[in-house]
Amino acid sequence: MPHSVPNPNIRQTQMFINGQWIPSQSGKTFDTINPANEEVIAQVAEGDAVDVECAVEAARRAFDEGPWPRLNARERGKIMHRFCDLIDEEIDELAAIESLDNGKPLKDARYVDIPLAVECIRYYAGWADKIQGTTIPVNGDFLCYTRREPVGVAGQIIPWNFPILMVAWKWGPALAAGCTLVMKPAEQTPLTCLRLARLAQKAGVPDGVINVVPGFGPTAGAAIVKHPGVDKIAFTGSGETAKTIMRQSADTMKRMTLELGGKSPNIVFADASLEAAAEGAHIGIHLNQGQCCCAGSRLFVEDSIHDSFVEKVVELSRKRRVGNPFDPATEQGPQVDRAQFEKIMSYIEKGQEEGAVCATGGQRVGDRGFFVEPTVFTEVHDEMAIARDEIFGPVLSVLRFSDVDELVRRANATTFGLAAAVWTRNVSKAHTLASRLRAGTVWVNCYDVFDAAAPFGGFKQSGFGRELGQRGLDTYLEDKTVTVSLG
Ligand code: NAP
Ligand code: MG
Repeated sequence: MPHSVPNPNIRQTQMFINGQWIPSQSGKTFDTINPANEEVIAQVAEGDAVDVECAVEAARRAFDEGPWPRLNARERGKIMHRFCDLIDEEIDELAAIESLDNGKPLKDARYVDIPLAVECIRYYAGWADKIQGTTIPVNGDFLCYTRREPVGVAGQIIPWNFPILMVAWKWGPALAAGCTLVMKPAEQTPLTCLRLARLAQKAGVPDGVINVVPGFGPTAGAAIVKHPGVDKIAFTGSGETAKTIMRQSADTMKRMTLELGGKSPNIVFADASLEAAAEGAHIGIHLNQGQCCCAGSRLFVEDSIHDSFVEKVVELSRKRRVGNPFDPATEQGPQVDRAQFEKIMSYIEKGQEEGAVCATGGQRVGDRGFFVEPTVFTEVHDEMAIARDEIFGPVLSVLRFSDVDELVRRANATTFGLAAAVWTRNVSKAHTLASRLRAGTVWVNCYDVFDAAAPFGGFKQSGFGRELGQRGLDTYLEDKTVTVSLG
């Protein structure tokens, strides 16, 4: 396994507030590490409440008095397109920093995550001058119309699994709507967010519109959540943190969108194209080291094909190449940090204790870096921890089914409702299942297909509100009704 690690130029490690690069007021920094070798990549400014205060003040001023919300809408779109051009120009270096900080294979960052991020921002750039109200035929001699206005200052808190893509999902609609924002990237992966702030500035986004405060959740994150100058919170991460955020934002009654976890059912019927379904089951769980909110972590397989189908899935897991993220042959890198690695290993242990069969994987790979073998458990029962909890790693739980009604009940018997998939050649079965599964996204004969235009988000405790598409834009807008007497 070659161990070449490129050495991208990490230029931005300070906070970005009001267009300035500044250290935290406390002078504190934290290490961000490379999860492939556990070495420190850089020290990053550690923002806390006082820094958030400055960032919110800057965002507030930029919103209340600055040019961004008042700019010709088409001009906002042009600046966003320019931002994307600059991302494209630096795509190789950005991909290298992303891979170094997060551990994901370089080719995933370079050819999947960043192109999707650019696509998302360009999609919302196109919306900037198409945000329109309506005229309403009210009773009496009145002209009644609505205006769609930016919600104000957005506080955006993101996780570490898709650092660049999460920035795009958050900044795209906020910028198009004319909002200003304060973002806290995840402590594990702050570097590319900071670089993107630099590129946005170069593209012409005015000072104070984008502010980035790296730091920790309970300090910097909580300060954003509680701040009265923040109008809306957009959060992606765990359910536990989301509940804390809901409680802490109640006093200031913030608008809120929450994009949380899942335990998504991936359902394979005997009449499916089994080669494609096996590939879908494999990618559905292992993509991004299993660190996907929509991972197809519960694989329901129809009894009549169970053994032969599982064999295919196990074979694909065995062949998956785990190793150096910078090796072009690598399909799976390390988990993002030690805490996630240990959590996953403890679930693997629990699965074995509870009597599931570890058909492949189950071990750490190497003794340096947080690598985990692609793991498949069979003979899993619904009540086992590995069938209920979000593991957020490359660990698949295979469950059997025979009766469809029973299957639907079991698939829906979870507190989550982010995604689901159905594999079948029977059209009516596909659409019936699509309507009966309680999830924000249902894929039929595919998995992990995303598009900037297609809304994404959760039912139940997988969150609320939607990202992407027009619905994603709506969450950054307020409706204002204007009534004019014509009498
Ligand atoms: P997390 O705690 O939800 O972290 C997500 C973001 O929220 C991070 O930026 C985090 O800051 C911040 N945060 C934490 N506590 C906060 C608070 N009190 N107020 C405001 N912000 C706060 O998730 P995690 O600890 O990284 O991962 C734990 C589990 O969450 C994973 O194992 C997985 O099950 C789930 N998860 C889901 C997603 C998803 O895409 N839905 C993504 C990541 C993780 P720090 O950087 O300091 O943590
Ligand atoms: Mg890191």
